[in-house]
Amino acid sequence: MPLDWSSIRTGEADSLHGTMIELCGWMIPLDPTADKADYFVLAADAPCCGGCLPRDPLSCVEVFATVPCASQERAVTLRGRLQRLIDDPAGWRYQLVEASPLDCQPDPAPRSASRRAFLASGAALGLAACAPGRFAGYTEKSDAAQAPDPLASDPRNQDAPTPENASNWRTADTLTMDMHSHAGRVTVSRNPAIGANRPFVPLAAPMRAGGMNVVCLAIVTDTTVTHVTADRKRIEAWRTPEDGELYALSQAEFVRVHALIQREQMQVVTNTASLAANGKAGPCAIIAAEGADFLEGRLERVDEAYSLHQLRHLQLTHYRVNELGDIQTEPPIHGGLTDFGADVVRRCNSLGIVVDVAHGTYDLVRRAADITTKPLILSHTALATHPSARSRLITPDHARIVAGTGGVIGVWPSSGTFHDVQGMANGMKRVADLVGVEHVGLGTDMLGFINPPVFRSYEQLPALGDVLMTAGFSKEEVGMILGGNYRRVFEASVG
Ligand SMILES: [Zn+2]
Ligand SMILES: [Zn+2]
Repeated sequence: MPLDWSSIRTGEADSLHGTMIELCGWMIPLDPTADKADYFVLAADAPCCGGCLPRDPLSCVEVFATVPCASQERAVTLRGRLQRLIDDPAGWRYQLVEASPLDCQPDPAPRSASRRAFLASGAALGLAACAPGRFAGYTEKSDAAQAPDPLASDPRNQDAPTPENASNWRTADTLTMDMHSHAGRVTVSRNPAIGANRPFVPLAAPMRAGGMNVVCLAIVTDTTVTHVTADRKRIEAWRTPEDGELYALSQAEFVRVHALIQREQMQVVTNTASLAANGKAGPCAIIAAEGADFLEGRLERVDEAYSLHQLRHLQLTHYRVNELGDIQTEPPIHGGLTDFGADVVRRCNSLGIVVDVAHGTYDLVRRAADITTKPLILSHTALATHPSARSRLITPDHARIVAGTGGVIGVWPSSGTFHDVQGMANGMKRVADLVGVEHVGLGTDMLGFINPPVFRSYEQLPALGDVLMTAGFSKEEVGMILGGNYRRVFEASVG
């Protein structure tokens, strides 16, 4: 019978002692250097690094497999006999014995890791420690610790049409671009024990599969001082950062985004010429930052990020009311954009960095629009007639200001706003009806949501194009929404 991790966590699985069950989780080999193992841990959550065991015995199961099985980059389902353990010396609560994987290849040659050896090694549960850097995908070229792409295994995505068989909206000129993404799991973990050692997930493969050409890969530079509220409805800043803290975070994140791009063998696009040369050839990335908190009020750091880290897309604010201005999700303090924020907009204009006003208040956007000499981007939002307090959605007037600069409003796939991709396409239609199709774009915020959004994989891109056609857009208009409009702003901004 299939078993859910909630039964393990609550102890309800005690009643299944001796029963054959099926359980899906992440294999953590106890010897991270081994390719295959018949003794390992199955964990509810993806490991933060190769040798790191979950500390909670209710979030993992000790597994004895009948055949050695190769370490997997994705969650595996095992069938085996569940054993409830009492006072286990290693601290385990459950074992899965006579286990065999339902979806990984057995290997005929057994290997020798044993429970006794494991106990003798002192690495038993509760003693295991995370070894920073040891298995991080960007410090060592190891694939063994890569967590799965949660979307690749989602059955809803497996029937997604491929670009070849379903992109009847795609033309020779189509260049698809995502204005806002954290795909590949580019950001560091909010959990300090994991931090920058968080495993990447595949990015180029789903981009290729869905025909997504270019993504703005956004680092986030307020992560260490924000948290998800207890009701899991929103994110807020909960403390004041130390001097230099968010700058240091940005440096780690810039390293990480470039490591991800290198690992995925993607190209960085920095200007009109490189976009034209590489955009369609292979998955490309534009280096972006969500929140300019890392500037810490120092304008010269815009130049530094531009030249050292190839930053070409800067979102002024995020979940902190920072030195640049007010945010939608907190009460205003500055009355919109600050003078420093205005200086940053000017600096971005002159250097060649796209200015993104997502998360900013209406007043912030209004002043940014007055100052900027280039079109503005509002990369991820949706229209609402009367957004509630702290809402990330925008009013028609707010949208008109962005469109008035010649800019683009990215519609994001929040499941709190849209039920499905069809609803998202309708949301794009509403923006187009209000301000014109040349001001509508796609901002997936991939891997940036608290709750799973309705567009969760680039493999859904062909389907999104199809429903946009159904919503009444022409091929050319679909191409504009899914990339052409952002391309126009990018080229106008970066030169
Ligand atoms: Zn955001
Ligand atoms: Zn985001």
